Amino acid sequence: MVSEALVEKAKEFHGHICPFLVLGLRASEIAMQKLGLTKAGEVETVGEEILAIVECNNCFTDGVQVATGCTLGNNSLIYMDVGKNAVTLVKRGEWRGVRVYIDSEKLRNKYFKKEATELFEKVVVKRQGTSEDYERLRKMWAEIGWSMTNVPEEMFKIEEVETAEIERAPILESVKCEKCGELVMKTRIRVVDGKAVCLSCLGECEAVVGRGIVPNFKIPLKVRR
Ligand SMILES: [Zn+2]
Ligand SMILES: [Zn+2]
Repeated sequence: MVSEALVEKAKEFHGHICPFLVLGLRASEIAMQKLGLTKAGEVETVGEEILAIVECNNCFTDGVQVATGCTLGNNSLIYMDVGKNAVTLVKRGEWRGVRVYIDSEKLRNKYFKKEATELFEKVVVKRQGTSEDYERLRKMWAEIGWSMTNVPEEMFKIEEVETAEIERAPILESVKCEKCGELVMKTRIRVVDGKAVCLSCLGECEAVVGRGIVPNFKIPLKVRR
């Protein structure tokens, strides 16, 4: 069962308590128990000894980051743009792990009240809620979240997996963009007309946005003058 303290910690990180945040915590907890792991600390995160592979970039993933200690910034989180609520925890070196997937349809009747689902549709999907609706949804969503701290293991699909070796984050040298003068990771420099130019100056890069990884993301920044 996910502890109250962990839910509060996750709230601090994620901004609010919601069902998928808590499911991310719970799924991670199950994977950690199966692998005999505790939250990744200094040794594991510096060395990338434990990896969490997530398959979505929604609330669930924030739960995974808080529970496992594997984050985007410490390179122990791998984001696969697959669009599923699942996490795989992997021990580097042994290359085995546990994948935990949740089928949210299975939870619907037991955990999601019809009222909450309809309100979610109105406020979040259609963006038509009043401020009262919004407040009511926030409360209901948090309540549902709290009720999910002890979703039984049987509700999850749990698989032992083997994984291929996963590369460590490389330490790459930086190169100066000849246009803006900023330092850039070497692999992100393009040579245009014999000049080293960064992607920002070229106006396009890959980016993770709400709908996942976008390969030709138009850089939206413009410096005010
Ligand atoms: Zn959320
Ligand atoms: Zn540049």
